[in-house]
Amino acid sequence: MESKGAVLMNRYELGRLLGQGTFAKVYYARNLKTGQSVAIKVIDKEKVVKVGLKDQIKREISVMKLVRHPNVLQLYEVMATKRKIYFVMEYAKGGELFKKVAKGKLKEEVAWKYFRQLIDAVDFCHSRGVYHRDLKPENLLLDENDNLKVSDFGLSAIAECKHQDGLLHTTCGTPTYVAPEVINKKGYDGAKADIWSCGVVLFVLLAGYLPFHDSNLIELYRKISKAEFKCPNWFSPDVRRLLQKILDPNPNTRISIAKIKESSWFRRGLKSKQIKSETGSKDVAPLDTDTASGSCKSNGMATEAKQELAKPTNLNAFDIISISAGFDLSGLFEEPCQKKKAKFTSRKPAAVIISRLEEIAKLLRLKVMKTGAGFMKFEGLKEGKKGILSIDAEIFEVTPSFHLVEVKKSNGDTLEYQKLLKEDIRPALQDIVWTWQGEEQQQQQLS
Ligand code: ATP
Ligand code: MG
Repeated sequence: MESKGAVLMNRYELGRLLGQGTFAKVYYARNLKTGQSVAIKVIDKEKVVKVGLKDQIKREISVMKLVRHPNVLQLYEVMATKRKIYFVMEYAKGGELFKKVAKGKLKEEVAWKYFRQLIDAVDFCHSRGVYHRDLKPENLLLDENDNLKVSDFGLSAIAECKHQDGLLHTTCGTPTYVAPEVINKKGYDGAKADIWSCGVVLFVLLAGYLPFHDSNLIELYRKISKAEFKCPNWFSPDVRRLLQKILDPNPNTRISIAKIKESSWFRRGLKSKQIKSETGSKDVAPLDTDTASGSCKSNGMATEAKQELAKPTNLNAFDIISISAGFDLSGLFEEPCQKKKAKFTSRKPAAVIISRLEEIAKLLRLKVMKTGAGFMKFEGLKEGKKGILSIDAEIFEVTPSFHLVEVKKSNGDTLEYQKLLKEDIRPALQDIVWTWQGEEQQQQQLS
């Protein structure tokens, strides 16, 4: 269907096939208006829906907007047709990093540069609560200036599914980059698993071959589980020490990124090199990291009770919800956009959001029927055109002081609801809302 020269959505002219993964094909393309080169990843919607990933993917796509970093491949936009999803991404002209390694091991300082860029990218994403979970050579690309670009960050739903698949059927290649705890299918910490993969990458860059390798899969798993690897004799003592700490089979004792950055090998390079492309935080969504690390504690029984109430829909660490204006994905899977739903993000604690919603309800003479678990229900006192108006609000915790709230009509007349939302609810929420999602981004809606 995607043939060379075809024009997508009147916007992009498709070029050659750049590569193919488990779920997708990636094409070179050009923005017809600006002439900009991009890469377009085409995913079969049916496959995604079949494996039950659609909600998670929607969330995770939005996450990618959060992670703007010079070493993270940028996602420009997402488009969809009935059958396909198109990720329009930054084009990495230099192709895969590992093509370089295929020609032979890299010099220590060259490996150091890429490793540093990798750690920078991973550290940045982790600070935003985003984990990769599928760090591997195919996802490490280079731009025209030979800078590393990590791709597929935020697409952990796809990665997850693939891992399961890959592990069960082994058709997706051997999981040589995957951490032991992921293989053992224990619940795992995304950050620690990513760190492990970074260690494997570093080893490969310096050695020119994999640290764990065996044609027998069971044997390979065993080696990974025990972190059985041997550094070749040209590895310096500094880097050996670092690798031992990264490739620690126990995620609890495995070195953290902060400690990697303090390690002598990492710093030695730093002293001797002029570092370019410092982590730029200027174009980053202002989600502060100390709230992301959960340092915000509340006092007082009432507040705690309310927070308890707001906890429930357990968004895991991978589920940071889109907060970025102009990036609404609600049209991605649902056919016409549902006008019944409104979403906003807030940087206030749950207790504040709940109190505000209660105040608004009082003002609007709506009955508050809390159903617990971060879920609130409001009902009108009088019958409207189509019965009693009923509005649900659901609060999802991203961090203790960062929430996503979904407000939707569950009964009654849609027009009546929309009027209430527009004229009363939204204005009353104004000072606690960080961004609204939805209505005002119609132009971004996907056809
Ligand atoms: P998997 O499906 O297991 O994730 P993958 O990462 O190789 O494997 P894709 O992300 O679909 O799969 O990418 C396929 C290939 O296309 C990559 O291996 C890479 O060589 C190429 N590619 C992907 N994104 C870009 C890009 N932005 N610029 C240039 N080449 C790319
Ligand atoms: Mg990829």
